[in-house]
Amino acid sequence: MSSDSSTLTSHGRDTLNNNCSCSCKNSINAEIIKAEALRLGFSACGVAQAGPVSEEHADAFLRWTADGKHAGMAYMTNYTDLRFNPCKLMPGARSVVSVALNYYPQQLLGADQYQFAFYAYGKDYHDVLRARLQQLVASTPLADAECRICVDTAPILERYWAQHSGIGWIGTNKNLIVPHIGSFVFLGEIVTSAEFSQYDAPMTNHCGNCRRCFDACPTKALTSSPSSSSISPSSSSISSSSPVSPSSSFNNSFTASSLDARRCFSYLTIEHRGEYTDEMLRLFSESMHNNADGCTSHPVRGCNLADETEIATNGETAEMIHDNSPKHYVYGCDRCQLACPHNRNAVPTSVAEFAPSHQFLSMKPTDWHQLSREDYQNLFRGSAVKRVKYEGLLRNISLFVDEKMG
Ligand code: SF4
Ligand code: SF4
Repeated sequence: MSSDSSTLTSHGRDTLNNNCSCSCKNSINAEIIKAEALRLGFSACGVAQAGPVSEEHADAFLRWTADGKHAGMAYMTNYTDLRFNPCKLMPGARSVVSVALNYYPQQLLGADQYQFAFYAYGKDYHDVLRARLQQLVASTPLADAECRICVDTAPILERYWAQHSGIGWIGTNKNLIVPHIGSFVFLGEIVTSAEFSQYDAPMTNHCGNCRRCFDACPTKALTSSPSSSSISPSSSSISSSSPVSPSSSFNNSFTASSLDARRCFSYLTIEHRGEYTDEMLRLFSESMHNNADGCTSHPVRGCNLADETEIATNGETAEMIHDNSPKHYVYGCDRCQLACPHNRNAVPTSVAEFAPSHQFLSMKPTDWHQLSREDYQNLFRGSAVKRVKYEGLLRNISLFVDEKMG
């Protein structure tokens, strides 16, 4: 495992301070890439030097899987050598470009409807994000370099690289939080042989001593165990000016909390295959009878957020955050994100593909109870919900139909 020590590359780059001391005739100005990313609709873009992830981060990941917290996601234990170093994922890689794309919905399902995680409202993000990243490569000097586009399809620690690219930080709820935008963002990466004349500084953690996501989680899937990792339950500022943190506190920000997927509804309702066990049913039942206190009317409630004064309220988002009523989630779970005060700045996405259909928004519980395979195919054509398949969605809906939860 490598360390984070400062070394000079063949281009004379000081890897600790992200500055290049040589002429770098072939290096790219990252501002060109960032400007084009913004033009293409991305919310944030940053660049980091490719190389091994920090030893602390890799160790936390290994502890997470050793503890079994990855549940049935056996693929998480594959290709760890590639996962821990994008230079092995793509030999010759010198940089990682990270982007974030806002998916906060333009319209929301009502509180009396069955809930889907926001990311699943529109078309499959894999296709949308990949197409935009291909455009980003084609319309910038990256076109002359070797590039590998990653959209949740390659063994790469995307939140680690997003934080290292300075576009956000990994929050206690294990999602990447982008200042002034929030965590309802998709992440994508371009691993590239291109070098940049300057790299972004990693972003510091701005969770402070807030614990609202802990409190909002109905199953206590989030813990502050020291043996932790930075894996997100679900699934970034143009931030060359991001503050630089001392490496120790920066690394601690990655590993201060842990997510147990075995208790997480995002995992259970999407990734888990087959019928639910009695233990899983008990978790669902408890969540229905446990009115999790995700938030109160005050944005910080005694928490010492580092940038408390920057957190503004935004009508619809704030309303969702303040709604403590239990939600009948049948696909995914957004509770720990809705509780996060940094999402009060969330604004609806302008990406047309992420707009929910009228048919989807108008579905009542009785419609879901009668869902045919044909209805399912029509509703979710080109959607990420296809991952759970018709039978899986019926299984989730049946939790509420058959009152299996007691
Ligand atoms: S997604 Fe839901 S179940 Fe999972 S950690 Fe967040 S609040 Fe808890
Ligand atoms: S609710 Fe948001 S700001 Fe608070 S600890 Fe969780 S991720 Fe951090």
